[in-house]
Amino acid sequence: MLVPYHEEMTREALAPHFSAGALDIIIAANLKQDSLRGQIGHDEYHYDNNAIEKGDRYIIEQRGYVLATLLSPGILGAWIAFGRLLHTAQDFYAHTNYVTMWLDEFNGAPPPPPEIDPLRKDLIKSPGLHSGNIYLPMDALYFVRPLRPLALKLLPQNSHGRMNLDSPEQGPKFEYARAAALKRTQYEFDLLRKILAPEMFARFTDK
Ligand SMILES: [Zn+2]
Repeated sequence: MLVPYHEEMTREALAPHFSAGALDIIIAANLKQDSLRGQIGHDEYHYDNNAIEKGDRYIIEQRGYVLATLLSPGILGAWIAFGRLLHTAQDFYAHTNYVTMWLDEFNGAPPPPPEIDPLRKDLIKSPGLHSGNIYLPMDALYFVRPLRPLALKLLPQNSHGRMNLDSPEQGPKFEYARAAALKRTQYEFDLLRKILAPEMFARFTDK
């Protein structure tokens, strides 16, 4: 997803729960995953190139860092790990065909975006789940505005350029990806609320 949407969703879901300072650090860590260094050689940060298992593992790993940091007196590492975790969890809906598979069940008359279930196990585990492949150089040219129409003509159906739901420009499916990512953000927070001891949770939210 494009940076403004990662930020907007994260704020919307988490502003009531975290101090402003903590939230800023979480968001900065989330957005940093889309820097050039986070783009090259890190398919797992964004579920790119069919890195489904690697993306899942990355989320689990970052959740582990949140816990490990909170078990020590530290805190900064927990916020950074949570921001990284959220980036990947949000990109899942923008870069895989999860939203398409969910919508396909409604024969063209789907319920409105807020009703999307972001955690349907059968879809998450479906053999049909895949994400966009990055075909260079065309997927790089896709990001050069004037060249986008040409790149799209040459990119295959299963490319990042053709599959992504990174912004509203991608059409009505974007709102479903955004709604699913927003719910998932809330879910990831609720999960930590459940597993963290009260003292750790208080330190984590910094409220
Ligand atoms: Zn990303």
